[in-house]
Amino acid sequence: MSQAFDIAVVGGGILGCATALRLAEGGMNAIVIEKSDLGQGASGVNAGTLSLQIKRVKLMPYALRGWAKWQAMGAAIGFHQTGGISLAFNQREADLLQERMTMKAEAGAPITLISGRDARAREPGLSDRVVAASWCPQDGHANSSLTGQYYRHQLRDARIAIREHCPVTKIDQTDRGFVLHGYGETIHARRLLLACGGWLKGVAALLGVDLPVRARVNTVSVTERGPRIMNTVVGHATGLLTMKQKTNGTVLIGGGWQGRGSPMNGRGLVDRDTLIPNLCLAQYAVPEIARLRVLRSWTGFEAHVPDFNPLAGALPGTKNAFVLGCVRGGYTIGPYISELMGDLILGRDPEMPLFDPSRPFDIETATRRIL
Ligand SMILES: Cc1cc2nc3c(=O)[nH]c(=O)nc-3n(C[C@H](O)[C@H](O)[C@H](O)COP(=O)(O)OP(=O)(O)OC[C@H]3O[C@@H](n4cnc5c(N)ncnc54)[C@H](O)[C@@H]3O)c2cc1C
Repeated sequence: MSQAFDIAVVGGGILGCATALRLAEGGMNAIVIEKSDLGQGASGVNAGTLSLQIKRVKLMPYALRGWAKWQAMGAAIGFHQTGGISLAFNQREADLLQERMTMKAEAGAPITLISGRDARAREPGLSDRVVAASWCPQDGHANSSLTGQYYRHQLRDARIAIREHCPVTKIDQTDRGFVLHGYGETIHARRLLLACGGWLKGVAALLGVDLPVRARVNTVSVTERGPRIMNTVVGHATGLLTMKQKTNGTVLIGGGWQGRGSPMNGRGLVDRDTLIPNLCLAQYAVPEIARLRVLRSWTGFEAHVPDFNPLAGALPGTKNAFVLGCVRGGYTIGPYISELMGDLILGRDPEMPLFDPSRPFDIETATRRIL
């Protein structure tokens, strides 16, 4: 079987699906090709936190606009605006919080610094060890396990072709575009968008392009259901904790603690040496969590490049091919940056600047503190 499209999008995560929707709005005949089910990569296993407090300063304008898209998607994707509190347990953490949150507030996030007492007034379950905190009324969460089903409906309504369980294993470039080979199928497309998350490096290599992409192996845990012990998204000055109680009473605990493995070898493994400190920090922040049993912990791959900015633009050295990925906080920012990417491919001027994948990558920047 062989079919021709205006554009083939490889990767059915939030970035691939949301960009395909924009392209279809702009009149392109698009296909989304996904090796598993839609939304089963990072976009479906993440912690679902829509927190401005844990976004990078540089990406704040994108995060604010992404947040507005989530608000508009609403209940269909489990959107909840709860407010969020980031905690400091000592003066050093309070100073760090002040430095980081002041910059984020200057970048447009409605974040204020509050005392430990004010934090406990908003969130009574917090430990009395909290000495200072920051508060953002916009923070909240959505249900990442709904990503696939949400976008499948959207893509179908927009009459976008979908191929699931179709890993792209070979891509040929011809004078008429691209020929993609998946399971028993050959797909022809005039343009190509790679939106394959943690797998970007391997898929770009099919076109002979070496992207400096690495994958982090983030861990998330969920507890059993329990009585209500928190109402907001609770974080920590270092960014090493995000925690929220869902409406069903379970508590989701994350914070970017690293598991093991690589995208080429399945979903990655939970590492008890990082899991336990993650859970201890959660319990230190909200002591009542100790009463709940952790039911499950899992990992997912989050791609990044050395400067921790997104890749969003033309694929280096490959005519009519584009790449979108490595967006830190990409669940929050995804619905917006994908529209910008779609506009670029459609030949429109994106409302905000994108992030040229051909920029030089200075390995030194990889070791700088990420704000
Ligand atoms: C555990 C975890 C927690 C996170 N928590 C948050 C959070 O709370 N808030 C937040 O804003 N961000 C969070 N993130 C980041 C966010 O989830 C990601 O930035 C975002 O989901 C990336 O979307 P994506 O579409 O680029 O990647 P993905 O969702 O990974 O999608 C890429 C898709 O490409 C497919 N694919 C790969 N290779 C091929 C191939 N050869 N052929 C066809 N398809 C292929 C994959 O199967 C996958 O479905 C978290 C990430 C992780 C991993």
